[in-house]
Amino acid sequence: MARVGNSIIKGIEISEIIKLLNKAYADEWLAYYQYFIESKVVKGIMKDAAIVELNQHAADELRHATMIADRIIQLGGTPLLHPKDWIKKTNCGYGEPKNFDVVAILQDAINGEQCAIKTYSSIVDLVRDKDIVTYDIASQILADEVAHEEDLQTLHDDITEFVTDLKKSLK
Ligand code: FE
Ligand code: FE
Repeated sequence: MARVGNSIIKGIEISEIIKLLNKAYADEWLAYYQYFIESKVVKGIMKDAAIVELNQHAADELRHATMIADRIIQLGGTPLLHPKDWIKKTNCGYGEPKNFDVVAILQDAINGEQCAIKTYSSIVDLVRDKDIVTYDIASQILADEVAHEEDLQTLHDDITEFVTDLKKSLK
């Protein structure tokens, strides 16, 4: 545990920060798996473009889980040790893919990112001026989640437009 490093935290209990981070940690693993499995089951037109995007996002979510686990340990905490706790502690839940069509898969993923943005935005608000290191980590992740939402929405809209144009041209 970082003794001096943790002595600079003011105005918030370290146990409270660890609790917030463990919930986000659960979200990241579930997001990782959601992207992983979506990239395997996705079907339909332009699915190859979606697979590239989903795989990139999976790698990002795993990197976020690493960043959060390292910070929890610095704070003297223990990252969740059992996958069953991911479901218990998650903020955003798990968006099991039910409809494998590429547009539906992308919409599920967009919903997940929108929840992640809300989660990190609230963590940033809670630790601002109190724990600058967690603030910095949560801000970096927040910026990634905003970029994820944008990338997915753009791809979702491009595919939707392409399909609409295709249907028109076939009439
Ligand atoms: Fe993430
Ligand atoms: Fe994300």
